[in-house]
Amino acid sequence: MNPAYPFSAVVGLADLKLALVLNAVSSRVGGVLVRGEKGTAKSTIVRALAAQLPRVAVVAGCRFHCDPGAPDPGCPDGPHETTAAGGADAAGALRAASLVELPVGASEDRLVGSLDLERALTEGVKAFEPGLLAAAHRGVLYVDEVNLLHDHLVDLLLDAAALGVCYVERETVSVRHAARFLLVGTMNPEEGELRPQLLDRFGLTVEVRATREPDERAEVVRRRFAFDADPEGFAARWAAEESALAARIARARAALGSVRLPDSRLRQITAVCAGFEVDGLRADLVTAHAAVAHAAWQGRDVVTREDVRVAARLALPHRRRRDPFDAPGLDERLLDELLDQTEPAAPDDPDNPESPEDPDDSGGPGSGGSGGSDGSGAGDGAPAAPESAPEGGPEGARDGAPEGAAGPSEGTGSGDRPQDVAAAGAPFRVPVLKVAGVGAGVAGRRSSGRGRHGRTIGARVPTGAGPAGIDLPATLLAAAPHQLRRGRRGPGLVLRRDDLREPVREGREGNLVLFVVDASGSMGARRRMTAVKTAVLSLLLDAYQRRDKIGLVVFRGAGATVALPPTSSVEAGAARLRALPTGGRTPLAEGLATAAEVLRVERLRDPDRRPLLVVVTDGRATSGGDVTRAAAALAGVTSVVVDCESGPVRLGMAQALALRLGARVLPLESLGDLVRDRRKAG
Ligand SMILES: [Zn+2]
Repeated sequence: MNPAYPFSAVVGLADLKLALVLNAVSSRVGGVLVRGEKGTAKSTIVRALAAQLPRVAVVAGCRFHCDPGAPDPGCPDGPHETTAAGGADAAGALRAASLVELPVGASEDRLVGSLDLERALTEGVKAFEPGLLAAAHRGVLYVDEVNLLHDHLVDLLLDAAALGVCYVERETVSVRHAARFLLVGTMNPEEGELRPQLLDRFGLTVEVRATREPDERAEVVRRRFAFDADPEGFAARWAAEESALAARIARARAALGSVRLPDSRLRQITAVCAGFEVDGLRADLVTAHAAVAHAAWQGRDVVTREDVRVAARLALPHRRRRDPFDAPGLDERLLDELLDQTEPAAPDDPDNPESPEDPDDSGGPGSGGSGGSDGSGAGDGAPAAPESAPEGGPEGARDGAPEGAAGPSEGTGSGDRPQDVAAAGAPFRVPVLKVAGVGAGVAGRRSSGRGRHGRTIGARVPTGAGPAGIDLPATLLAAAPHQLRRGRRGPGLVLRRDDLREPVREGREGNLVLFVVDASGSMGARRRMTAVKTAVLSLLLDAYQRRDKIGLVVFRGAGATVALPPTSSVEAGAARLRALPTGGRTPLAEGLATAAEVLRVERLRDPDRRPLLVVVTDGRATSGGDVTRAAAALAGVTSVVVDCESGPVRLGMAQALALRLGARVLPLESLGDLVRDRRKAG
C-alpha cells in the first residue's frame, strides 16, 4: 500500500491543519467541519493527519477495537480480561489509528451496524454485524459532503460522536458499544447547508479555499507530481518533518492535563462568546478546550490571549449564524476588540510573558515543515469576507416592519447596477404548502410520503432483498395459522422466513419547490418588488428548513431564464433573488414553458421527488405566447399562485391563471398578514 501524502508537505491551509492538530491533541475539541469549494485536497489532508495519530493497542480478535488496558465493559465481543494499561502484550496488538470514510449513500445499517432480525427470530441468535462507527472507534471518521447525508444519519452520527457510544435498536433487540472518534466532515455550502443544530455540534469549522497565489499553486502541483511519481521516495524526503510532528502531537497530548486555564482567561472566553451572541454554552466549552489544546501544542502550561484568539476564530464562526442567508466567517476586528476589553490587567504567569505580536501561531502545525507550508498559508484559510454582513443587521431588520424596509440583507449585489434592483426585507414564516397525495420521495418535512421513517400505518410481505425492519404483530399473525402443521410442541413459536412482515411507514418527504417569479415592469414599483422578494425569500427559507430542493425561473422583458437550476443551496437561491433586476414586458407563457422544461428534466434526474410549483405574479401577460397552452403543459403538477396584484382596481388575472393551472391562490398580502398576526400573538 502506498504511504499517505505527508501532512507537513501540504501547502497552505494553515487553519485546517491547525484545527485538525488541535483535535488530535485533545479529543474534547469535538471534531472539525471543513467548508469550502471542491478540489482543495480536504481528504488528502485528513488522511495525512490520521497517519500522524499515535498507534493504538487493540484486543486481538475484537471487532470493536477495545483497548486491552480499558476494554469496553459492554463490548458485544466481550467480556475481555483487563491487562496492563497502555501496552501491547499477549492480549493485544498495536495498529495504526483507523481512518474510516462514511459514504454519502450509506444506509443506517452500514453506519451503526446491523442486527440480523431474521436470525434472531427464526434461529434465536443475536447476530450483530458492526458498522462504520465501530470501525472508526479510536480513530478518525471522515464524512465527505456531510451536508448531503440524510438528516437521520447525521443525527445518529452526531449522537454517537457526542456520547462516545453507538446504540442499535431493532424492535425488541438492542446492542451498544463504545464509539469514540475524531469526526471530520466536509461540505460545499453551494450544494446545501447543514441545519444550524447540526452545525453547532461540530467543535470547530474552517473555511477553505484553494490559494489564488500562482507561486503557491505551482508548488501544490509540483509536490503532487513528485508524490504521484514516487510515493515512497516523497514520503522518505518528508520523514523527518513527519516524525517531528508526530512527536509534537504526542508531547502536547501528554501535557494537556497540566495546562492551566486561569479564571481570568475563562472569563475572557465567556465574554468573547457573549460578545458574538452565540446560543447556549457549547461554544464556551469548545473554545476553552481548544484554547487549552492550543496552549499544549505551543508548549505552554498556561492559556494565553493568543490561545483564546485562535480557539475563538475556529470555534465561533458557525455558532453565530442566525439564518442561512448570513455570510459565514467571524469578524476578526470585533474579536480583537472583545479581547482588548477583557484582557486581564496582570499577566497570568510571569514565567510565560505574553506577546500578542508573536507570529508563531499562524503557521502552527506546519512549523518545522518547509518554508512553503507556513506563513504563506496564513491568510489562506481565513474566513471569507466577514465584512459583507453588517453587524447586527438581520436582527435589527427582524424587529422592524418587513415590507418596504430597504433590508440590510441586500449584501450580495454589487451596489451600482445599471438595472433597477429592489431590496428584499427580512424573511418571515410562511404557511405550509404541500403536494397533494402520498409520494415516495426522499425523507423531508413537506408532503406526505412513504419511506423508512415515520409512523407505521400497516405491514406487508418484504418487497426488497430483506425486510426493512420487522413488524412483530403482523409476523406473528402470519405464522400463527401454521403452527400445528409445522409440528409445534413446546411454547416456542415456529417461525419461517416467509412469515416475516415489514412495516409500511408514512412520514414526510422533501419536494422540488420551483419558483416562477414575474420580475416585469407590471409588477410595479420598487416597494412592490421588495414585498415580492421578501415573500419569495421567506418561501425559500421555508423550503430549506423542510429539506426541499429549490429552483428559480424568472421572466421579464424578452423571455424567461432559469436563474437557479434545481439545487439544495438556499444561499445560491437567495443570492440570485436579491440581485434580480425588475422591469420590461411580461412574457408569462415563456415563464410557464421554461418551468415545464425544468420539471421535465428534473423528473428524469430525480424521479421520486415530486414538484411543487409556486408562481409569483399579478397574472398580467403583456407579451409572448399563449398562456393557456403553456399552462396545459403543467397539468398534474401541484401549483400555487401567489397573487401580487395590488391597488384599488383589480383585474383578477392571477385568479384566472390559477384556474388554468388548477392552482391554489395565495394573495401576497396574506403572507404579510400572517406575520403581523404572529407578532401580535408573540
Ligand atoms: Zn471488545
